[in-house]
Amino acid sequence: MTLMEIVKMLVPESKYSIKCPYAMVPEFIIIHNTANDASAINEVSYMIGNNNKVSYHCAIDDQRIVQGVPFNRNTWNATDGASGIGNRKGIALEICYSKSGGEKFTEAEKLTANYTAYLLKQYGWGIDKVKKHTDFYPVKGCPARTLSLGWQRFLNMVSLYMEDKPNDNSIESGSDEPVRIYENGSTIENVYADSNCTTKIGSLNPREKCDCFGIFNNRAMVRYAVDNTTNYKIGFCKWTGGVK
Ligand SMILES: [Zn+2]
Repeated sequence: MTLMEIVKMLVPESKYSIKCPYAMVPEFIIIHNTANDASAINEVSYMIGNNNKVSYHCAIDDQRIVQGVPFNRNTWNATDGASGIGNRKGIALEICYSKSGGEKFTEAEKLTANYTAYLLKQYGWGIDKVKKHTDFYPVKGCPARTLSLGWQRFLNMVSLYMEDKPNDNSIESGSDEPVRIYENGSTIENVYADSNCTTKIGSLNPREKCDCFGIFNNRAMVRYAVDNTTNYKIGFCKWTGGVK
């Protein structure tokens, strides 16, 4: 059983009214394709950062599972309206890198199948609880790439992962940690889109405080409000001394 890294980058409660207004008891899983080529961290960062009534629970790429909305809240994923069963009862999983496909998509789809199997076991569900976006809104054709490669093929992958050894230990617990606080030092701290710190997306002011999802690749992953708005960005800081 492959280890699965799960990172929680949860939408702040101040945005529940936009992204996940209703309490939810999940009844099944809905599979989507993102239809673009962003990483899971970037997908979730964008999703919780904007104020659109579009949301989902997890984005999954070739590296990790990134959760943006807790499973006890609904998401606007299934295009079936405010009282639609897809929007109100489904755990929505987005498979990344689905625009161009290729090796990264193949790996993302595998990790999604593995995680789907894990969730089915957790909830005591069978394979019939795995749905696709088109079950709720046929017009959109989502998850397009997964469907074109074969839906039954995807379900078979999930079933194979379910038959594997019990995967209760498959979560890297260190990455599924509670949100902490980051308190910047006395100088401006740049925030980057990636842990290699190649693309700057913003900065923290001296002594500015924000949420922190932990340390990844020796960088602090932070979630901060942009210019005191309710829009949030997620990125990486080189200085890890601010993690409290
Ligand atoms: Zn979809």
